[in-house]
Amino acid sequence: MLEIFNTLLNAYGPRCWWPAQTPFEMMVGAILTQNTAWANVEKAICNFGDCLSPEYIAKASSEELARIIRPSGYYNQKVLKLKALTEWYERYEYDIDKARQVEGDLLRQELLAVKGIGPETADSILLYALDKPFFVIDAYTRRILYRLGYNLPAAYDTLQRQIQANIPQDIHIYQEFHALIVEHAKRHCRKNPLCSGCPLEERCPQRI
Ligand code: SF4
Repeated sequence: MLEIFNTLLNAYGPRCWWPAQTPFEMMVGAILTQNTAWANVEKAICNFGDCLSPEYIAKASSEELARIIRPSGYYNQKVLKLKALTEWYERYEYDIDKARQVEGDLLRQELLAVKGIGPETADSILLYALDKPFFVIDAYTRRILYRLGYNLPAAYDTLQRQIQANIPQDIHIYQEFHALIVEHAKRHCRKNPLCSGCPLEERCPQRI
């Protein structure tokens, strides 16, 4: 695993994720990116203007929020999710430092209990907004590891444990590794892969 990480890091350089100005914007982005391309999330985030705060989302009407986040798709569902996320955040008085003081497993349980937050979204928030070491598993991770020859368990948490057991428990490695996986899936290991020039080509059985 570490060899894959280092190869991708050498090929693409540090990605310095998550692309957000504040931890709360990061959390909002993690909800909005569900089932849509990042370009649509950027449009929705941009529509907030200076209003992107938990206080605003808590008070705004559903119609107003739906209008703002419309470019991200599934906007009626996402309004409910953003409201639920903000309600969870309120227990920490919208203070990221207070939330970060809480133990990671407990935060994960809380986030998974929030409407519309599954393991991938919860772990993204934990890793990039709350600085907790939870490796994010997404479809790109599965696609790349499968093609590289790994036999992957179906269960999210099992695969997460296996990956975490094979890399140092370092939040910066977790953050970079996931970002590099996304980069690699976009540049080379696409649905129809561009294997020529792929930095992992030499060690890849290309189980396509
Ligand atoms: S060689 Fe092809 S299949 Fe293997 S990781 Fe690279 S792009 Fe993906």
